[in-house]
Amino acid sequence: MPKTAAPRPRRRASRPDGPARRSARGLDDLNPAQRAAVCHLDGPLLVLAGAGSGKTRVITRKIAYLIDVAGFEPRHVVAVTFTNKAAREMKARVAALLAGRDTTGLTVCTFHSLGLDILRRERALAGLKAGFSLLDEQDSDALLREILRHAGDDAAAGDARWAISRWKNDLVPPGAALSAAADPAEARHARLYADYERALRAYNAVDFDDLIVRPVALLRDHPEARERWQNRTRHLLVDECQDTNGAQYALVRLLVGARGMLTAVGDDDQSIYAWRGARPENLARLQQDLPGLEVVKLEQNYRSTGRILAAANALIANNAHLFEKRLWSDLGPGEPIRVVACRDEAHEAARIAGEILQRRHAKDGAFGECAILYRGNHQARPFEQALRELNVPYFLSGGTSFFSRGEVKDAMAYLRLLANPEDNAAFLRIVNVPRREIGPTTLEKLAAYASSRHVALLPACDEIGLSLAVEGRALERLRTFAGWIARHARLADADGAAAALRALLREADYEGWLREQGAAAKAAERRWENVQELLSWVERMQRDGDGASLADVVARLTLQDVLERDDEEAGGDRVHLMTLHSAKGLEFANVWLAGMEEELLPHRASIEADTIEEERRLAYVGVTRARRNLVLTFAEKRRRFGELLSCEPSRFLRELPQDTLRWEGGGADTNPETRLERGRAGLATLRSLLGGD
Ligand code: ATP
Ligand code: MG
Repeated sequence: MPKTAAPRPRRRASRPDGPARRSARGLDDLNPAQRAAVCHLDGPLLVLAGAGSGKTRVITRKIAYLIDVAGFEPRHVVAVTFTNKAAREMKARVAALLAGRDTTGLTVCTFHSLGLDILRRERALAGLKAGFSLLDEQDSDALLREILRHAGDDAAAGDARWAISRWKNDLVPPGAALSAAADPAEARHARLYADYERALRAYNAVDFDDLIVRPVALLRDHPEARERWQNRTRHLLVDECQDTNGAQYALVRLLVGARGMLTAVGDDDQSIYAWRGARPENLARLQQDLPGLEVVKLEQNYRSTGRILAAANALIANNAHLFEKRLWSDLGPGEPIRVVACRDEAHEAARIAGEILQRRHAKDGAFGECAILYRGNHQARPFEQALRELNVPYFLSGGTSFFSRGEVKDAMAYLRLLANPEDNAAFLRIVNVPRREIGPTTLEKLAAYASSRHVALLPACDEIGLSLAVEGRALERLRTFAGWIARHARLADADGAAAALRALLREADYEGWLREQGAAAKAAERRWENVQELLSWVERMQRDGDGASLADVVARLTLQDVLERDDEEAGGDRVHLMTLHSAKGLEFANVWLAGMEEELLPHRASIEADTIEEERRLAYVGVTRARRNLVLTFAEKRRRFGELLSCEPSRFLRELPQDTLRWEGGGADTNPETRLERGRAGLATLRSLLGGD
C-alpha cells in the first residue's frame, strides 16, 4: 500500500490474512467445496453451512478472485452484510488479500449503507430533496409521539413504531396495512403509519427501515434506475443471508436481476433476527426464485475445538431443521467447556474479569482475544465495572448510547437542521435549546401557518405571510432564529460542518446552558465533553474525505458507522463486550457466555411467546464464537427490576453433552458432582417431558 502523507493510519488497520496475492490466485488454503464456491461464476450460488465453516472466508476470497482473476472491475462488485463491525472486518480482509491493487469503487458495506448510497445517488427519483435527514429509532419515536399527541391518541409510540417497522420490512404500504388490519388496534397503528409516512415526507426525512424500503420501491418503479444499478452490481455477495428480511430480500432480487450473479452464504441455525422481520425461509426461497441456483454445503469447521463443536451440535439438534447439515472439526477435543455458578451478577462479573486478567498474565490470551457475550445490553454494566476495577481495557460494542445522550442529540439536531431546513423534528428539538423564549403558543401558530402553506417550520419563519399569524416580539424571535441558522448553514458550506457547529454552539453559549441545567458541575462538564467528542468526529470525517457534504456527515453519524469504527480502533488490545446479536460472524480464542439462566437466555419474552428456538439459535451463535476456550456462567441470584431474585440455570445448559462440560461452583452449591447429577436429572426430566427415552 502506498505511503500517504495524510495522518490516517488507523483507518487501514487491517488483519493480514497470509501472503495475500498468492492466496487470491492460488486458492490453496481453501477446501474443495470452498474453492468450488469461489470459482463458480456461471450463475447464482448459495453456500449453506454451519458456524465456522468458512462462509465468510468464501465471500472475502471470492471478492478477491472476482477482481484479481476473473477480471471484474472493483466498482462492479458489491458485498453486503449486517453489522458495521462485520463489514469493517470483511473490508480489512479483502484489503489484505488485494494489497497493492487499486480497489476504488469496490463496495463492502452493510445493507443500510448500501441503501443510503442508492438513495443519495438517486435522490430525485426517490422523491427526496437535497440534505434529507436520516432519523434514528429515537427520532422516529419522538415523531410518532408528536403525531399521537396531535391526534389525542394515547397509544404507545414504541409499540406503534414496531408495528410500522414490521409492515415496512414486509413491504406493506399504509393503505394495504389498513385494509388488512385484523382488529381496531391494528387499524389504529395502520392509520398512524399513514400519518407517519406523510410527516417523513414533509420533513424530507427517512427512517432506518426506509434505507431498504425506498431503494426497493425506487428500483421496482424506475426501470432506468434498476438498469443502472444492475449494471453496476455485476456480482452481489451477501453474508449472513439467513437474516435478510422481506425488504432486504427484495433489494437483493432487484439488484441481481435476470443476470443472477449472486453469491449468498448463510446458516439457518444462526437466524436471530426473526423479531425484526428476518425470514430464514428466504434461503429456501432463493432456490425457487433463482433458477439454476447452485447449492454448496461446507462441513468442516475450522474454528472450534471438538468439545465446543460437539456442544454446539448437540444444542442445535434440539431445533427443527429446514436443511440438514453436518459439521466436524479436526482441531482435537480441546479443553472442557467450563460451567461456572456464581452468587450474583457482581460475582459473575468479578470472576470473569479476574479470569481474563489471569489469562493475560499467564500469556495465554491477549485481551483482544477475549469476549464477554450476553443476551441484553443491560447486562453490560457490572462487567464494565469489574473490568475497570482491574484496569482491564475493554471495548463495548453496540449499546453505546452515545447518540441517545441529550447533548449529543441537540448537537446532531443542529447539524441536521443546517443540512436540511425542512427537518421539523430537529427544528422542534432545538428551537428553544438554549432558551429563546419562543413559547408553545408561538410554535403552534407557526405550525398551523406552515401546514396551511405546505412548507416546513424553518422556511415558514421567513415567509412574509407569517406576520398575519404571529406578531411582534414572537415573530422577531422566530426570524432571528431562522436567520441565524441560515447564516451557519452558509458557513457549513464554506468552512465545513464542524466549524459551523462550533461557531453556532459558541454563539448560543450552549456550554453555559448545560451548566444552567441544574446538574452538578461535573456532569455538565462531561456533557460538554461529549459534544466536543462529536465535533472532533465531524472534523475527522471531513479531513479523511469520507463525508464530503454536511448531509453525508450527518447520515453517517446517524448510522454510527464512524463512531463504532473509531472507538474500536482507538484502543488496540481490549476485551470485547457485546450482545450475542452483535457477536454474529465474529470469533475469539476465549469466550465467556454470561447469564446462562432461564428468563435471560432463553429470554422471558421468548418463553412466554413460545419462541425458544430463536433463543437456542442465539445460544448456538454464542457457543460457536469460541475457538479454544468457552466458559458458561450463571448467577444463582440476580437483581432484576430492583429485586434480588433467585435464578434457575438455563435449560440450554442441560441440553449440552455433559461429557464436554466441567461444572465449577462459586455459590452455595459448589460440588461439581452434585451439579453434574443435577444436570443429568434435568436432562432426564426434559427428555421425559419431550416424550423421549
Ligand atoms: P460464521 O457462521 O460464524 O459466520 P463462517 O462460516 O463465516 O462462520 P469463517 O469466519 O469464514 O466461518 O471461518 C471460520 C474460521 O475458520 C476463520 O478463522 C477462518 O479463517 C478459518 N477457515 C475457514 N476456512 C478455512 C480453511 N479452508 N483452512 C483454514 N482455515 C479456514
Ligand atoms: Mg461468517
